[in-house]
Amino acid sequence: MTVTDAAVEAVQAGWEAPEALLRADPQVADLLAGEAVRRAESLQLLAGENLTSPAVLAALAGPLVDKYAEGYPGRRHHTGCALADAAELLAVDRAKQLFAADHANVQPRSATSAMLATYAALLKPGDGVLAMSLEHGGHLSCGSRANFSGRWFDFIGYGVHEKDGLIDLDQVHELAKLHRPKAIIAGGISYPRQIDWEGFRRIADEVDAYLIASAAQITGLVAAGQAVSPVPYADVTVAATHKLLRGPRGGLLLCTAELADRMDRAVFPFSQGGAAMNEVAGKAVAFAEAGTPEFGAYVRRAVEGARSLAAALGEAGARPLTGGTDTHLVTADVSPLGLTGLEAERRCASAGLMLGKCALPYDPAPATECSGIRLGTGALAAQGMGQEQFAELGELLKSLLSGGDAGLIGGRVRALAQAFAGRR
Ligand SMILES: *Cc1c(COP(=O)(O)O)cnc(C)c1O
Repeated sequence: MTVTDAAVEAVQAGWEAPEALLRADPQVADLLAGEAVRRAESLQLLAGENLTSPAVLAALAGPLVDKYAEGYPGRRHHTGCALADAAELLAVDRAKQLFAADHANVQPRSATSAMLATYAALLKPGDGVLAMSLEHGGHLSCGSRANFSGRWFDFIGYGVHEKDGLIDLDQVHELAKLHRPKAIIAGGISYPRQIDWEGFRRIADEVDAYLIASAAQITGLVAAGQAVSPVPYADVTVAATHKLLRGPRGGLLLCTAELADRMDRAVFPFSQGGAAMNEVAGKAVAFAEAGTPEFGAYVRRAVEGARSLAAALGEAGARPLTGGTDTHLVTADVSPLGLTGLEAERRCASAGLMLGKCALPYDPAPATECSGIRLGTGALAAQGMGQEQFAELGELLKSLLSGGDAGLIGGRVRALAQAFAGRR
Protein backbone atom coordinates (compact mmCIF):
# COMPACT_ATOMS: atom_id res chain seq x y z
CA MET A 1 0.00 0.00 0.00
CA THR A 2 1.33 3.46 -0.83
CA VAL A 3 1.55 6.24 1.71
CA THR A 4 -1.33 8.03 0.05
CA ASP A 5 -3.62 5.00 0.17
CA ALA A 6 -2.85 4.40 3.84
CA ALA A 7 -3.30 8.09 4.61
CA VAL A 8 -6.68 8.19 2.84
CA GLU A 9 -7.87 5.12 4.70
CA ALA A 10 -6.65 6.62 7.98
CA VAL A 11 -8.60 9.83 7.32
CA GLN A 12 -11.72 7.69 6.93
CA ALA A 13 -10.75 6.08 10.22
CA GLY A 14 -10.59 9.49 11.90
CA TRP A 15 -6.87 10.29 11.82
CA GLU A 16 -5.19 12.69 9.48
CA ALA A 17 -1.41 12.59 9.09
CA PRO A 18 -0.09 16.14 9.58
CA GLU A 19 1.47 17.57 6.41
CA ALA A 20 4.87 18.05 8.09
CA LEU A 21 5.06 14.38 9.02
CA LEU A 22 3.83 13.11 5.66
CA ARG A 23 6.47 15.16 3.89
CA ALA A 24 9.41 14.58 6.26
CA ASP A 25 8.84 10.95 7.14
CA PRO A 26 6.35 9.03 5.02
CA GLN A 27 7.55 5.78 6.59
CA VAL A 28 6.43 6.76 10.09
CA ALA A 29 3.32 8.51 8.72
CA ASP A 30 2.45 5.21 7.06
CA LEU A 31 2.87 3.25 10.31
CA LEU A 32 0.64 5.70 12.16
CA ALA A 33 -1.98 5.57 9.42
CA GLY A 34 -1.91 1.78 9.64
CA GLU A 35 -2.43 1.94 13.39
CA ALA A 36 -5.41 4.29 12.94
CA VAL A 37 -6.94 1.81 10.49
CA ARG A 38 -6.25 -1.14 12.79
CA ARG A 39 -8.05 0.68 15.58
CA ALA A 40 -10.97 1.61 13.39
CA GLU A 41 -11.51 -2.04 12.45
CA SER A 42 -11.22 -3.63 15.88
CA LEU A 43 -12.44 -3.07 19.42
CA GLN A 44 -9.82 -2.18 22.04
CA LEU A 45 -10.50 -4.11 25.23
CA LEU A 46 -7.03 -4.25 26.81
CA ALA A 47 -7.48 -3.59 30.53
CA GLY A 48 -5.02 -0.71 30.92
CA GLU A 49 -5.55 0.90 27.54
CA ASN A 50 -7.70 3.92 26.87
CA LEU A 51 -8.11 6.96 24.64
CA THR A 52 -6.78 10.29 25.84
CA SER A 53 -9.48 12.94 25.63
CA PRO A 54 -9.27 15.41 22.69
CA ALA A 55 -8.38 18.28 25.04
CA VAL A 56 -5.58 16.25 26.64
CA LEU A 57 -4.24 15.29 23.22
CA ALA A 58 -4.18 18.97 22.23
CA ALA A 59 -2.29 19.93 25.41
CA LEU A 60 0.24 17.14 24.77
CA ALA A 61 1.02 18.59 21.34
CA GLY A 62 1.27 22.16 22.70
CA PRO A 63 4.36 24.39 23.18
CA LEU A 64 5.28 22.96 26.59
CA VAL A 65 6.49 19.82 24.79
CA ASP A 66 9.75 21.72 24.23
CA LYS A 67 10.27 23.17 27.70
CA TYR A 68 13.10 22.03 29.94
CA ALA A 69 11.98 22.50 33.54
CA GLU A 70 14.06 20.49 35.95
CA GLY A 71 13.04 20.84 39.59
CA TYR A 72 9.79 22.20 41.00
CA PRO A 73 7.80 25.43 40.53
CA GLY A 74 9.68 28.37 42.00
CA ARG A 75 12.93 26.41 42.25
CA ARG A 76 13.81 25.29 38.74
CA HIS A 77 17.28 24.74 37.37
CA HIS A 78 16.27 26.38 34.09
CA THR A 79 15.18 29.88 33.15
CA GLY A 80 11.95 30.81 31.36
CA CYS A 81 9.82 28.54 33.52
CA ALA A 82 7.12 30.96 34.70
CA LEU A 83 4.39 29.42 32.54
CA ALA A 84 5.63 25.87 33.07
CA ASP A 85 5.48 26.62 36.79
CA ALA A 86 1.92 27.90 36.47
CA ALA A 87 0.90 24.75 34.56
CA GLU A 88 2.44 22.46 37.16
CA LEU A 89 0.90 24.37 40.09
CA LEU A 90 -2.47 24.11 38.37
CA ALA A 91 -2.04 20.35 37.84
CA VAL A 92 -0.99 19.87 41.47
CA ASP A 93 -3.88 21.97 42.83
CA ARG A 94 -6.40 20.18 40.66
CA ALA A 95 -5.06 16.73 41.63
CA LYS A 96 -5.18 17.65 45.34
CA GLN A 97 -8.75 18.82 44.98
CA LEU A 98 -9.94 15.94 42.79
CA PHE A 99 -8.53 13.27 45.09
CA ALA A 100 -8.81 15.22 48.38
CA ALA A 101 -5.08 14.70 48.94
CA ASP A 102 -2.73 16.74 51.12
CA HIS A 103 0.02 16.60 48.53
CA ALA A 104 0.41 15.62 44.87
CA ASN A 105 3.43 15.11 42.63
CA VAL A 106 2.52 15.15 38.93
CA GLN A 107 6.00 14.52 37.52
CA PRO A 108 6.37 10.69 37.44
CA ARG A 109 6.66 9.50 33.85
CA SER A 110 4.82 6.25 34.55
CA ALA A 111 3.19 4.36 37.40
CA THR A 112 6.31 2.20 37.62
CA SER A 113 8.56 5.24 38.08
CA ALA A 114 6.08 6.57 40.67
CA MET A 115 6.46 3.24 42.48
CA LEU A 116 10.27 3.51 42.28
CA ALA A 117 10.12 6.97 43.86
CA THR A 118 7.80 5.66 46.58
CA TYR A 119 10.23 2.89 47.53
CA ALA A 120 13.10 5.38 47.44
CA ALA A 121 11.26 7.71 49.82
CA LEU A 122 10.13 5.10 52.33
CA LEU A 123 12.54 2.16 52.24
CA LYS A 124 16.15 1.08 52.29
CA PRO A 125 17.46 -1.74 50.09
CA GLY A 126 16.78 -5.07 51.77
CA ASP A 127 13.65 -3.88 53.61
CA GLY A 128 10.66 -6.21 53.70
CA VAL A 129 7.52 -5.40 51.68
CA LEU A 130 4.22 -7.27 51.83
CA ALA A 131 2.39 -7.06 48.49
CA MET A 132 -0.11 -8.97 46.38
CA SER A 133 1.88 -11.75 44.74
CA LEU A 134 2.39 -11.46 41.01
CA GLU A 135 0.51 -14.72 40.36
CA HIS A 136 -2.52 -13.26 42.12
CA GLY A 137 -2.51 -9.92 40.30
CA GLY A 138 0.34 -7.80 41.68
CA HIS A 139 2.18 -5.57 39.19
CA LEU A 140 5.77 -6.40 38.29
CA SER A 141 6.93 -3.27 40.12
CA CYS A 142 5.65 -5.00 43.27
CA GLY A 143 8.26 -7.70 43.60
CA SER A 144 9.09 -9.30 40.26
CA ARG A 145 12.63 -10.70 40.18
CA ALA A 146 12.96 -9.28 36.68
CA ASN A 147 12.24 -5.78 38.05
CA PHE A 148 14.28 -3.55 40.38
CA SER A 149 11.66 -4.07 43.08
CA GLY A 150 12.23 -7.79 43.45
CA ARG A 151 15.99 -7.32 43.23
CA TRP A 152 16.32 -4.59 45.86
CA PHE A 153 13.64 -5.43 48.43
CA ASP A 154 12.51 -8.49 50.25
CA PHE A 155 8.98 -9.18 49.00
CA ILE A 156 6.43 -11.35 50.75
CA GLY A 157 3.30 -12.17 48.72
CA TYR A 158 -0.32 -12.33 49.82
CA GLY A 159 -3.12 -13.62 47.61
CA VAL A 160 -6.80 -14.10 47.02
CA HIS A 161 -9.06 -16.90 48.25
CA GLU A 162 -9.25 -19.80 45.84
CA LYS A 163 -13.01 -20.19 46.23
CA ASP A 164 -14.18 -16.61 45.56
CA GLY A 165 -11.15 -14.71 44.25
CA LEU A 166 -11.43 -12.10 47.02
CA ILE A 167 -8.36 -10.72 48.84
CA ASP A 168 -7.59 -12.82 51.90
CA LEU A 169 -7.20 -10.07 54.52
CA ASP A 170 -6.68 -12.66 57.27
CA GLN A 171 -3.65 -13.92 55.38
CA VAL A 172 -2.40 -10.31 55.00
CA HIS A 173 -2.77 -9.91 58.77
CA GLU A 174 -0.94 -13.17 59.58
CA LEU A 175 1.93 -12.45 57.15
CA ALA A 176 2.25 -8.89 58.46
CA LYS A 177 2.56 -10.10 62.07
CA LEU A 178 5.02 -12.82 61.07
CA HIS A 179 7.33 -10.76 58.82
CA ARG A 180 6.87 -7.21 60.20
CA PRO A 181 7.36 -5.60 56.74
CA LYS A 182 8.43 -1.97 56.44
CA ALA A 183 5.61 -1.38 53.92
CA ILE A 184 2.38 -3.04 52.82
CA ILE A 185 1.09 -2.56 49.28
CA ALA A 186 -2.67 -2.85 48.74
CA GLY A 187 -4.13 -3.33 45.26
CA GLY A 188 -3.07 -4.75 41.92
CA ILE A 189 -3.53 -4.74 38.19
CA SER A 190 -6.66 -6.80 37.77
CA TYR A 191 -8.59 -6.92 41.03
CA PRO A 192 -12.23 -6.30 40.00
CA ARG A 193 -13.71 -5.54 43.42
CA GLN A 194 -13.59 -2.72 45.97
CA ILE A 195 -10.49 -2.88 48.12
CA ASP A 196 -10.81 -2.69 51.90
CA TRP A 197 -8.25 0.11 52.33
CA GLU A 198 -9.39 0.63 55.91
CA GLY A 199 -8.70 -3.03 56.71
CA PHE A 200 -5.22 -2.72 55.19
CA ARG A 201 -4.65 0.46 57.20
CA ARG A 202 -5.52 -1.30 60.46
CA ILE A 203 -3.02 -4.06 59.69
CA ALA A 204 -0.31 -1.57 58.67
CA ASP A 205 -0.83 0.38 61.91
CA GLU A 206 -0.64 -2.78 63.99
CA VAL A 207 2.80 -3.68 62.62
CA ASP A 208 3.97 -0.08 62.17
CA ALA A 209 4.33 -0.35 58.38
CA TYR A 210 3.72 2.23 55.67
CA LEU A 211 0.60 1.61 53.59
CA ILE A 212 1.11 2.11 49.84
CA ALA A 213 -1.98 2.00 47.60
CA SER A 214 -1.30 0.52 44.17
CA ALA A 215 -4.17 2.33 42.47
CA ALA A 216 -3.02 2.89 38.88
CA GLN A 217 -5.72 0.72 37.36
CA ILE A 218 -8.57 2.36 39.28
CA THR A 219 -7.45 6.02 39.32
CA GLY A 220 -10.37 7.05 37.08
CA LEU A 221 -12.91 5.20 39.24
CA VAL A 222 -11.60 6.96 42.33
CA ALA A 223 -11.63 10.35 40.56
CA ALA A 224 -15.28 9.81 39.64
CA GLY A 225 -16.18 8.79 43.18
CA GLN A 226 -17.12 5.32 41.92
CA ALA A 227 -14.60 3.38 43.99
CA VAL A 228 -13.65 3.78 47.62
CA SER A 229 -10.68 6.15 47.67
CA PRO A 230 -7.40 4.88 49.14
CA VAL A 231 -6.22 8.46 49.73
CA PRO A 232 -7.59 8.88 53.28
CA TYR A 233 -5.99 5.58 54.32
CA ALA A 234 -2.69 5.21 52.47
CA ASP A 235 0.53 7.04 53.26
CA VAL A 236 1.20 7.08 49.52
CA THR A 237 -1.18 6.41 46.64
CA VAL A 238 0.46 5.42 43.35
CA ALA A 239 -1.84 6.41 40.48
CA ALA A 240 -1.76 6.51 36.68
CA THR A 241 -3.19 9.21 34.44
CA HIS A 242 -3.40 7.23 31.19
CA LYS A 243 -5.74 4.43 32.18
CA LEU A 244 -9.39 5.03 33.10
CA LEU A 245 -8.60 8.73 33.74
CA ARG A 246 -7.98 9.40 29.99
CA GLY A 247 -5.04 11.70 30.67
CA PRO A 248 -1.49 11.58 29.26
CA ARG A 249 0.61 8.47 29.62
CA GLY A 250 2.07 8.98 33.08
CA GLY A 251 2.10 8.53 36.82
CA LEU A 252 0.78 10.51 39.76
CA LEU A 253 1.72 10.40 43.43
CA LEU A 254 -0.64 11.42 46.23
CA CYS A 255 0.58 11.49 49.82
CA THR A 256 0.26 12.95 53.29
CA ALA A 257 1.66 16.41 54.06
CA GLU A 258 4.21 14.75 56.31
CA LEU A 259 5.76 12.80 53.42
CA ALA A 260 5.53 15.62 50.84
CA ASP A 261 9.20 16.70 50.84
CA ARG A 262 10.55 13.16 50.90
CA MET A 263 8.32 12.09 48.04
CA ASP A 264 9.22 15.14 45.94
CA ARG A 265 12.94 14.53 46.44
CA ALA A 266 12.50 10.86 45.57
CA VAL A 267 10.99 11.84 42.20
CA PHE A 268 13.44 14.68 41.45
CA PRO A 269 16.40 14.53 41.71
CA PHE A 270 16.58 10.93 42.95
CA SER A 271 14.86 9.00 40.17
CA GLN A 272 14.08 11.46 37.35
CA GLY A 273 15.52 14.49 35.61
CA GLY A 274 13.37 17.19 34.02
CA ALA A 275 9.61 16.61 33.92
CA ALA A 276 7.74 16.24 30.62
CA MET A 277 5.94 19.57 30.86
CA ASN A 278 3.49 18.83 28.04
CA GLU A 279 2.39 15.78 30.02
CA VAL A 280 2.09 17.91 33.15
CA ALA A 281 -0.17 20.32 31.21
CA GLY A 282 -2.14 17.34 29.88
CA LYS A 283 -2.54 16.02 33.42
CA ALA A 284 -3.96 19.41 34.51
CA VAL A 285 -6.56 19.13 31.73
CA ALA A 286 -7.40 15.52 32.64
CA PHE A 287 -7.91 16.39 36.33
CA ALA A 288 -10.33 19.19 35.39
CA GLU A 289 -12.23 16.92 33.00
CA ALA A 290 -12.44 14.15 35.59
CA GLY A 291 -14.47 16.48 37.83
CA THR A 292 -17.28 16.89 35.28
CA PRO A 293 -20.64 15.06 35.19
CA GLU A 294 -19.75 13.80 31.67
CA PHE A 295 -16.72 12.01 33.07
CA GLY A 296 -18.86 10.43 35.79
CA ALA A 297 -21.31 9.22 33.14
CA TYR A 298 -18.45 7.74 31.08
CA VAL A 299 -17.08 5.84 34.08
CA ARG A 300 -20.57 4.52 34.89
CA ARG A 301 -20.93 3.31 31.29
CA ALA A 302 -17.54 1.57 31.56
CA VAL A 303 -18.53 -0.21 34.78
CA GLU A 304 -21.98 -1.21 33.51
CA GLY A 305 -20.39 -2.42 30.28
CA ALA A 306 -17.89 -4.54 32.22
CA ARG A 307 -20.75 -6.01 34.27
CA SER A 308 -22.64 -7.04 31.16
CA LEU A 309 -19.53 -8.53 29.54
CA ALA A 310 -18.81 -10.48 32.76
CA ALA A 311 -22.38 -11.81 32.66
CA ALA A 312 -22.02 -12.77 28.99
CA LEU A 313 -18.77 -14.61 29.73
CA GLY A 314 -20.57 -16.47 32.49
CA GLU A 315 -23.39 -17.44 30.13
CA ALA A 316 -20.81 -18.69 27.65
CA GLY A 317 -19.53 -21.10 30.32
CA ALA A 318 -16.44 -19.18 31.37
CA ARG A 319 -15.96 -18.32 35.04
CA PRO A 320 -15.60 -14.59 35.82
CA LEU A 321 -13.35 -14.18 38.85
CA THR A 322 -15.17 -13.00 41.98
CA GLY A 323 -18.38 -13.69 40.01
CA GLY A 324 -18.44 -10.26 38.34
CA THR A 325 -16.98 -6.80 38.78
CA ASP A 326 -17.30 -3.43 40.55
CA THR A 327 -14.90 -1.86 38.05
CA HIS A 328 -14.16 -1.55 34.33
CA LEU A 329 -12.18 -4.82 34.53
CA VAL A 330 -13.19 -8.42 34.01
CA THR A 331 -10.96 -11.45 34.48
CA ALA A 332 -12.40 -14.82 33.53
CA ASP A 333 -11.29 -18.43 33.61
CA VAL A 334 -11.84 -19.87 30.12
CA SER A 335 -10.67 -23.39 30.93
CA PRO A 336 -14.28 -24.67 31.42
CA LEU A 337 -14.69 -23.92 27.69
CA GLY A 338 -11.77 -26.20 26.86
CA LEU A 339 -9.65 -23.19 25.88
CA THR A 340 -6.38 -21.80 27.20
CA GLY A 341 -6.11 -18.04 27.74
CA LEU A 342 -3.78 -17.84 24.77
CA GLU A 343 -6.25 -19.67 22.51
CA ALA A 344 -9.09 -17.42 23.68
CA GLU A 345 -6.95 -14.31 23.09
CA ARG A 346 -6.12 -15.46 19.56
CA ARG A 347 -9.68 -16.41 18.72
CA CYS A 348 -10.90 -13.01 19.92
CA ALA A 349 -8.14 -11.16 18.04
CA SER A 350 -9.04 -13.03 14.83
CA ALA A 351 -12.51 -11.47 15.11
CA GLY A 352 -11.17 -8.01 16.02
CA LEU A 353 -11.72 -8.19 19.78
CA MET A 354 -8.44 -7.07 21.32
CA LEU A 355 -8.25 -8.40 24.86
CA GLY A 356 -5.45 -10.15 26.73
CA LYS A 357 -4.70 -13.60 28.03
CA CYS A 358 -3.95 -13.57 31.73
CA ALA A 359 -2.67 -15.91 34.40
CA LEU A 360 -5.20 -16.63 37.11
CA PRO A 361 -4.58 -17.10 40.81
CA TYR A 362 -3.77 -20.81 41.33
CA ASP A 363 -3.44 -21.19 37.54
CA PRO A 364 -2.38 -24.74 36.67
CA ALA A 365 -1.51 -23.81 33.05
CA PRO A 366 2.01 -22.76 32.01
CA ALA A 367 2.57 -18.96 32.11
CA THR A 368 2.90 -18.76 28.32
CA GLU A 369 -0.62 -20.12 27.85
CA CYS A 370 -2.58 -19.24 31.02
CA SER A 371 -6.17 -20.17 31.83
CA GLY A 372 -7.69 -16.72 31.82
CA ILE A 373 -8.51 -13.65 29.81
CA ARG A 374 -8.70 -10.09 31.08
CA LEU A 375 -10.51 -7.16 29.54
CA GLY A 376 -11.30 -3.54 30.31
CA THR A 377 -14.09 -1.34 28.95
CA GLY A 378 -12.46 2.12 29.33
CA ALA A 379 -11.58 2.74 25.69
CA LEU A 380 -14.97 1.65 24.32
CA ALA A 381 -16.83 3.74 26.91
CA ALA A 382 -14.56 6.69 25.98
CA GLN A 383 -15.69 6.29 22.36
CA GLY A 384 -19.25 6.69 23.56
CA MET A 385 -20.37 3.07 23.71
CA GLY A 386 -23.10 2.25 26.22
CA GLN A 387 -25.52 -0.43 27.28
CA GLU A 388 -26.76 -1.24 23.77
CA GLN A 389 -23.27 -1.74 22.31
CA PHE A 390 -21.98 -3.67 25.30
CA ALA A 391 -25.00 -5.97 25.13
CA GLU A 392 -24.24 -6.66 21.45
CA LEU A 393 -20.58 -7.14 22.23
CA GLY A 394 -21.50 -9.61 24.99
CA GLU A 395 -23.50 -11.65 22.48
CA LEU A 396 -20.59 -11.62 20.01
CA LEU A 397 -18.09 -12.62 22.70
CA LYS A 398 -20.39 -15.40 23.84
CA SER A 399 -20.86 -16.92 20.40
CA LEU A 400 -17.18 -16.54 19.58
CA LEU A 401 -16.03 -18.37 22.70
CA SER A 402 -18.69 -21.06 22.21
CA GLY A 403 -17.16 -21.92 18.83
CA GLY A 404 -19.12 -19.56 16.56
CA ASP A 405 -17.78 -18.57 13.13
CA ALA A 406 -14.95 -16.06 13.69
CA GLY A 407 -15.35 -14.67 10.16
CA LEU A 408 -19.04 -13.86 10.59
CA ILE A 409 -18.58 -12.53 14.11
CA GLY A 410 -15.57 -10.51 12.93
CA GLY A 411 -17.80 -8.79 10.37
CA ARG A 412 -20.20 -7.67 13.08
CA VAL A 413 -17.29 -6.54 15.28
CA ARG A 414 -15.92 -4.47 12.40
CA ALA A 415 -19.32 -2.86 11.78
CA LEU A 416 -19.57 -1.89 15.45
CA ALA A 417 -15.98 -0.62 15.48
CA GLN A 418 -16.44 1.41 12.31
CA ALA A 419 -19.61 3.04 13.63
CA PHE A 420 -17.51 4.52 16.48
CA ALA A 421 -14.19 4.93 14.64
CA GLY A 422 -12.28 8.13 15.30
CA ARG A 423 -14.47 9.07 18.26
CA ARG A 424 -12.88 9.82 21.59
C1 LIG B 1 -0.72 -0.17 34.87
C2 LIG B 1 -0.19 -0.42 36.22
C3 LIG B 1 1.16 -0.21 36.53
C4 LIG B 1 2.18 0.19 35.50
O1 LIG B 1 1.96 1.40 34.89
P1 LIG B 1 3.08 1.97 33.89
O2 LIG B 1 2.66 3.40 33.73
O3 LIG B 1 2.96 1.17 32.64
O4 LIG B 1 4.39 1.83 34.52
C5 LIG B 1 1.57 -0.44 37.81
N1 LIG B 1 0.73 -0.86 38.77
C6 LIG B 1 -0.57 -1.06 38.52
C7 LIG B 1 -1.48 -1.50 39.61
C8 LIG B 1 -1.08 -0.85 37.23
O5 LIG B 1 -2.38 -1.08 36.99
